[in-house]
Amino acid sequence: MRTHSIAVCGAGIGGLATALALDARGHQVTLFEKVDSPRPVGAGFMLQPTGQAALARLGLLAEALTLGRPLAGIAGHTRAGRTIFDIDYRVIGEAYFGLGLHRGALFHILDAERRRRQIVLATGADIATTALVGNKRTVADTAGHDRGAYDLVIDATGLHSSLRLANADIRLNRPYPYGAVWGVVREPPDWPHAHTLAQRYDGASRMAGLLPIGQLSGSDQPLTAFFWSLKNVDLDTWRATPFDAWQSEVIALWPAAEPFVCQFSTHAELAPASYCDVRLRAPVTERLAFVGDSARAASPQLGQGANLALIDALVLSDCLAAVPVMASALAAYARERHAHSRFYGRASRLLTPFFQSDSRLAGAVRDATFAPLARVPYVRREMVRTLAGLKTGLFSHQTPNGLVGSEPIEPASITPSTFRDVT
Ligand SMILES: Cc1cc2nc3c(=O)[nH]c(=O)nc-3n(C[C@H](O)[C@H](O)[C@H](O)COP(=O)(O)OP(=O)(O)OC[C@H]3O[C@@H](n4cnc5c(N)ncnc54)[C@H](O)[C@@H]3O)c2cc1C
Repeated sequence: MRTHSIAVCGAGIGGLATALALDARGHQVTLFEKVDSPRPVGAGFMLQPTGQAALARLGLLAEALTLGRPLAGIAGHTRAGRTIFDIDYRVIGEAYFGLGLHRGALFHILDAERRRRQIVLATGADIATTALVGNKRTVADTAGHDRGAYDLVIDATGLHSSLRLANADIRLNRPYPYGAVWGVVREPPDWPHAHTLAQRYDGASRMAGLLPIGQLSGSDQPLTAFFWSLKNVDLDTWRATPFDAWQSEVIALWPAAEPFVCQFSTHAELAPASYCDVRLRAPVTERLAFVGDSARAASPQLGQGANLALIDALVLSDCLAAVPVMASALAAYARERHAHSRFYGRASRLLTPFFQSDSRLAGAVRDATFAPLARVPYVRREMVRTLAGLKTGLFSHQTPNGLVGSEPIEPASITPSTFRDVT
């Protein structure tokens, strides 16, 4: 196999995982990160069976399982207590579950492995441009400093990538009107939904959620990520609202959330997040590949973004290993990731208005139809496959190993596959 010099820009989930997968294949990897001390931004997320399979291939799943919280599924109810969702991963097989994980926990796992592998990380490197020079690609930072020339550059700089803006053929780049505020609190010992992502809705314009995310490395305190849906234009009004008035609003919507919401004491303890819908014609161009949110982005309604980033990392490194010619390897990566990425872009676009919009009709349609539809066994299975990250089209799906590959990325970190194939 040919090895290459590769610059990975962005040391988030996608960038770190890509650096690990490429290093394991023997490439010379340099990571660039714009912040001086990289740390996870955001509260927590659900690691789907696909993301778990990706970590397994990197030899890192066991540690994630010790920190995260296994989740049986999602339960969503209206303010009046009507069930909208109550879906369980086990519908598609006993081996399936979600893993609630603190971002800090995953970051710690990936970054510790980066250190163990001694992958070079240049911090304070805000990469602004890249250019083709002969058969190399250069990168330069915002201060105009040349950061070297490489066989391949990977853009893992996330949602607001400027490399994407300058170099990719962008089909869609549209901000969503709704975002959320997020925070992390301690899980009360008697919380009955300790193995469920629980959500509460009031129409499509108000939503709260509680995601158990396990613990941080070095602590045994179980944590929960709380989120509150908010229109981006209403963020300042929310900040100006007396904090206890907002707490009362949440508790009126969802009395069971009181022990969580009462742990916050100021607006500043909740971080705002906004979302965009981003689609590229292809996640590659000459000697440049996009992974994670820079390759595509969606609202987090289906909880797939971090999982997609992890899969990108593994598939890209596999394509470079399998196909000796760089351009063909990148084309293979684009092909391999197309159907899966397109399905989740479309599904997120379709579903988001039912959960985060001003439409009264969307909320009413959701309340009237989602639960009856989910009682149809076929629809129920497809809903769970969608949540599990396995769909590649309306009528097609894959197994986690089918999407991510199953061979350990290197012999030294063999991790037995946790997943059974589902037909
Ligand atoms: C509120 C919210 C909830 C979510 N919930 C889920 C969930 O449940 N499940 C799920 O799978 N996903 C979820 N996501 C999506 C998930 O967070 C993203 O898809 C994932 O973090 C993408 O990883 P990434 O590596 O592409 O980008 P990021 O994690 O954003 O990392 C990008 C990195 O690049 C660095 N960078 C940026 N610009 C530059 C530059 N110019 N030069 C160098 N470095 C740069 C940044 O500092 C950062 O370290 C959620 C997102 C949000 C906002």
